[in-house]
Amino acid sequence: MRLRSGDIDNMRYNLAEPSIFMPTTLTEALAWKERHPHATVYAGGTYLLWNQSGRLLQLPESILSLRNIKELNRFGRTESRLDVGATVSLQRILRAGPKVLSPLLAKALEGICPPSVTSMATLGGNLGVPDRCMASFPVMHVLDARCELRSAKGTRWVPVTGLRSETGQLQLQPVELITRIQIPMEEWNFFIHRRIGSSPYGITPDSLVIVLVGKTYRGMITEFRFALGNFSSHMYRNRDLETLLIGTRLSRGKSKDLKAFLYALQEELQTRKFLFSPLQIERVLRILEVTLSNPFQYT
Ligand SMILES: Cc1cc2nc3c(=O)[nH]c(=O)nc-3n(C[C@H](O)[C@H](O)[C@H](O)COP(=O)(O)OP(=O)(O)OC[C@H]3O[C@@H](n4cnc5c(N)ncnc54)[C@H](O)[C@@H]3O)c2cc1C
Repeated sequence: MRLRSGDIDNMRYNLAEPSIFMPTTLTEALAWKERHPHATVYAGGTYLLWNQSGRLLQLPESILSLRNIKELNRFGRTESRLDVGATVSLQRILRAGPKVLSPLLAKALEGICPPSVTSMATLGGNLGVPDRCMASFPVMHVLDARCELRSAKGTRWVPVTGLRSETGQLQLQPVELITRIQIPMEEWNFFIHRRIGSSPYGITPDSLVIVLVGKTYRGMITEFRFALGNFSSHMYRNRDLETLLIGTRLSRGKSKDLKAFLYALQEELQTRKFLFSPLQIERVLRILEVTLSNPFQYT
């Protein structure tokens, strides 16, 4: 499917014609959402329309389109963070280039969806998918990003780590919108971002996203974060395990500390078999082993 920016105007429906509200201000949008809490929010539409082939699009009955709301389309950077309006396209963020984006963030955003889709796809839409943690989730998690959520009644900030409950439910009230995402811009001494699976984009049973970041001081790991996502409703991160590597020395080869970490991780991942296949676990361990036993490649 190739989406063009005019698609929402030109849609042809095979169901009863949906009602589409296209406000130009956030206040209007929030007031309308208060009255229509179960309306589907439409940002770029690339997830909502994904996998729809043929000329007739199937649309939800009631749609709130965010695309004409200027307040949601702002994008800027301060010294310490990136501020991304919920409807800023991934393409626009990526075009900001290396002066604005860290190499990790650029790689992670490029890895969300194919280049043909980035002009419409948004970060708000990626985080707003109700039933899955999509591709940006692991990186937003380890970078400690947070989301501004607004309703007609007020505003709250939620860290991406708190955007999902223990059971994987998206913690967004039906009357709320994701309006902004703030991403801290820290310097990391080493990082990896990998997408694994039979296809570079899309969701297949073997799809996996691995994100790892670390800080070092005089060859010692002072901070280490690591997350895995497989497009299910859960994402894997274990801060207790992360601390196992803190205070350890980076060295070539598989140190005792690294072995202990990999062993503990393997045990953990195997107890979560419903999330990761044996092949995925093997690949995660291999990537971590190679990265962390050759850290100078990444520093
Ligand atoms: C060919 C193709 C391949 C793709 N591959 C991938 C992939 O590999 N990984 C991946 O992650 N995605 C993939 N996608 C899906 C999609 O491009 C991204 O997930 C994108 O970031 C979604 O953004 P959007 O603005 O298009 O979201 P939309 O489709 O507009 O919305 C997605 C969901 O979020 C909700 N939503 C949107 N904005 C908000 C908001 N501001 N507040 C509250 N809820 C909101 C919507 O109601 C909907 O449930 C692919 C899409 C295509 C067409």
